[in-house]
Amino acid sequence: MSAPVISGAENAPAMPAVPRKERAVPERSAVDAVYRQTVSSLGDGVCPRCRGRVTVDATTDGWSRDQGPRSLTYGFEYACRDCGGRWTTTVGETVLDHPAVAAFYHDHGVDLRDSHVWELEFAATDHDTRVRSRDPLRLELRPRCGNDELVLVVADDGSVVRNSRHTKFTARDTWFDRPAADAGRN
Ligand SMILES: [Zn+2]
Repeated sequence: MSAPVISGAENAPAMPAVPRKERAVPERSAVDAVYRQTVSSLGDGVCPRCRGRVTVDATTDGWSRDQGPRSLTYGFEYACRDCGGRWTTTVGETVLDHPAVAAFYHDHGVDLRDSHVWELEFAATDHDTRVRSRDPLRLELRPRCGNDELVLVVADDGSVVRNSRHTKFTARDTWFDRPAADAGRN
């Protein structure tokens, strides 16, 4: 049985071979890519190691990365029911993929994919995180861009239950109150 022939193709002149272009993959390290996949998988409730189911719980007791001194206060602890794997992430890492986070930074001209996760302060640290309420436990994360602030309220299962934006006007009011003629002298 011969291969099927596309009608008309048998008489068409041979097409010159198009040289394959090697496209540059956006520059980001493999470590960052694996890290993002791990965090994303945990957020989906899937073990990044064995694809089993993971449970999640918020912690406010302090934790550390790599068995070092406890330098972080808030986070989410994940445990795999199948392989026993355990991970802890910051609140910022947990919400890294949330559309409100991407949109907030995008509106300020920042593509979060252009940086390593550990270069994003809201994700690498918990400086912008606090407890909003204890019962039920709600953590609040407030990443900032200029005078704008994104306020995310995160439940103890890592889901974002509320998000809003604030603008800090303090600096702007001072600047506006100043007569334009004096602006260059001070
Ligand atoms: Zn597992």
